[in-house]
Amino acid sequence: RKGTAIITGASSGLGLATAKALADTGKWHVIMGCRDFLKASRAAKAAGMEKDSYTIVHLDLASLDSVRQFVNNVRQLEMPVDVVVCNAAVYQPTAKEPSFTADGFEMSVGVNHLGHFLLAREFLADLTSSDYPSKRLIIVGSITGNTNTLAGNVPPKANLGDLRGLAGGLSGVGSSAMIDGGEFDGAKAYKDSKVCNMLTMQEFHRRYHDETGVTFASLYPGCIATTGLFREHIPLFRLLFPPFQKYITKGYVSEEEAGKRLAQVVSEPSLTKSGVYWSWNKNSASFENQLSEEASDPEKAKKVWELSEKLVGLA
Ligand code: NDP
Repeated sequence: RKGTAIITGASSGLGLATAKALADTGKWHVIMGCRDFLKASRAAKAAGMEKDSYTIVHLDLASLDSVRQFVNNVRQLEMPVDVVVCNAAVYQPTAKEPSFTADGFEMSVGVNHLGHFLLAREFLADLTSSDYPSKRLIIVGSITGNTNTLAGNVPPKANLGDLRGLAGGLSGVGSSAMIDGGEFDGAKAYKDSKVCNMLTMQEFHRRYHDETGVTFASLYPGCIATTGLFREHIPLFRLLFPPFQKYITKGYVSEEEAGKRLAQVVSEPSLTKSGVYWSWNKNSASFENQLSEEASDPEKAKKVWELSEKLVGLA
């Protein structure tokens, strides 16, 4: 049978390119979890995806109710859940003030981490009961959250501190909107959220891999400098960032190539190892990459897991 892969944020960029790469093989049905149904449907059509190769289901990760509704709606489809890809993200590098999700969490961590945390926890049962030969839960990470890299050392650096802001609910009222309890900084909030994504993947691996056989993975697909992720950046940045990545850092990767990379993590029989953070070298060959000290700290992973559980109502 065809595999079924859920991809969040599949209406543009990496998510769309991955959905197309999988659908084009004829071996996958893609469930596109998107906040803007019309945009997603236009994007899938414009990408030339076969009509019966995908289903769009509404998902707004900025609302825990919407996440729960999404899980229910996917279950109503009565399709197996073989792979889940947590891909959607917001990046607000120029925001002066924090904005908040429906549940009152700072937006970047609320959408990128907490919404996905609930979604992934909910779908674990579905993944476990799937009879697909290789079941996978994938969370898209980033080099920017990884302070053992050059890109990860561009200030403001990711740093979760002692998690006091997360413990306080990131509400910005009586508690900081930032995980480490500091002043709001949109670029840092994004990087912190990506560290949470990478920690979450490893904690899933430690808690559930042996018991469920599910592969838990994260990845850095390369710098996809052309996606909508940079939409809120200043125009000069948006103009210069793609050529800078192409010719100076040489970390640039096209949306199509990045989509193929993520599609490999979804479906390649050679990439079944769990607990791995995948990256690609200059020849586009995948390898197991090292995470920074903070992004691979088991104690921190456990604490982030436990605090997140409380915030999304699972504990
Ligand atoms: P895009 O902005 O193109 O894609 C992000 C997607 O997330 C969009 O489909 C967007 O929906 C969706 N999204 C945003 N907020 C929500 C929400 N509240 N609910 C549901 N969906 C939402 O960026 P990319 O393709 O670049 O980003 C995809 C992933 O890749 C992210 O996890 C990012 O961190 C990661 N990444 C990107 C890199 C890059 O260089 N671009 C490098 C490393 C990692 P909509 O279309 O409606 O706006």
